[in-house]
Amino acid sequence: MSDVVPTHIFDLTPEALTDSFKAMRLPAFRSKQVLQWIYEKQVDSWDTMTNLGKADRVKLSEHFTILRGQTVRHQLATDGVQKLLVDWSGAKLPIVTNTSNQTECVMIPSESRKTACISSQVGCPVGCKFCASGLDGVDQNLTSGQIVEQVWQLARMQGVGRISNVVFMGMGEPLANFNEVVKAVQFINAPWGMGISARKITVSTVGLPAQIRRLADIDLPITLAISLHAPNDDLRRQLIPWADYVSIAQLLEAGQYFFRKTGREITLEYILLGRVNDQLEHAYELAKVARSLRSNVNLIRYNEVTGLPYKRPDTKDVLAFEEVLRDKGVNVHIRASRGRDIAAACGQLRRENAGTC
Ligand code: SF4
Repeated sequence: MSDVVPTHIFDLTPEALTDSFKAMRLPAFRSKQVLQWIYEKQVDSWDTMTNLGKADRVKLSEHFTILRGQTVRHQLATDGVQKLLVDWSGAKLPIVTNTSNQTECVMIPSESRKTACISSQVGCPVGCKFCASGLDGVDQNLTSGQIVEQVWQLARMQGVGRISNVVFMGMGEPLANFNEVVKAVQFINAPWGMGISARKITVSTVGLPAQIRRLADIDLPITLAISLHAPNDDLRRQLIPWADYVSIAQLLEAGQYFFRKTGREITLEYILLGRVNDQLEHAYELAKVARSLRSNVNLIRYNEVTGLPYKRPDTKDVLAFEEVLRDKGVNVHIRASRGRDIAAACGQLRRENAGTC
């Protein structure tokens, strides 16, 4: 048995895979065949790759691993949303309650699209007060391969088929894991990879101005979403610890730079927390912010998290909030609440699985 540490196949570009094959004295065209098996036919075992000889398959299985994650929970909501809890410890390790290696990813189907919501880190360093993912801080960054594997795993689930949209709105702050997220986006977008249009990939950030500028400067036509969640600095600091270091004005400056540089509109994400940030005065303030950035606003009704004090907003408050924004000329949508019966709030399934909520 070889003592080579296998390389995760989802970490490799076609060029890198071809180079590895050459080093292993395998014909270069084999790398193309392997990529087709992985990305087109979505197989997860070397034995299934029948146009490769047995000896080559054995060699490949010693040098590469297809799956790094193990699905430890799979939940299906009554509305068709599916959620996976993936453990990255290694398939042979015992897995019961260890959250330090687990992330969540979600498939959200609708009539017009199939959206994969994926994680970029294990846990989250931001620690938003209303969010289950940040309650225990961050344990580690995911590699680009681990990020791509989530999309791939979701696409393989029965009845899913082709994924149309990807959103980085699961666990983690994507721009705090910048290089791996950018590489993963390239793989998700590549024709030889997942083949999903870059415009249908949304990276959502709580706001790191320098990284927003960096993202604007590279040629990656993704959609950027800023998780604002409060229309003024005082309230934002109460909800988002990182708002102590970054003001809304600084975020707006970075957002304007992104818009000027790329020509792409930014979306502001705003979680409505009952009686906290969902009142009319907040809507008027938010309208000003959105108009200064010429951005769309997505309103998201909070999904309650066991052990946290925040409440889901009243429907009448949500509708009144939306109306103010619309009256002020802001392009606003209320995002449909999906998968509420399966621990829908991000990070909740992981804690539930570990018995911490
Ligand atoms: S809401 Fe997003 S940024 Fe905030 S703690 Fe949760 S995962 Fe992190």
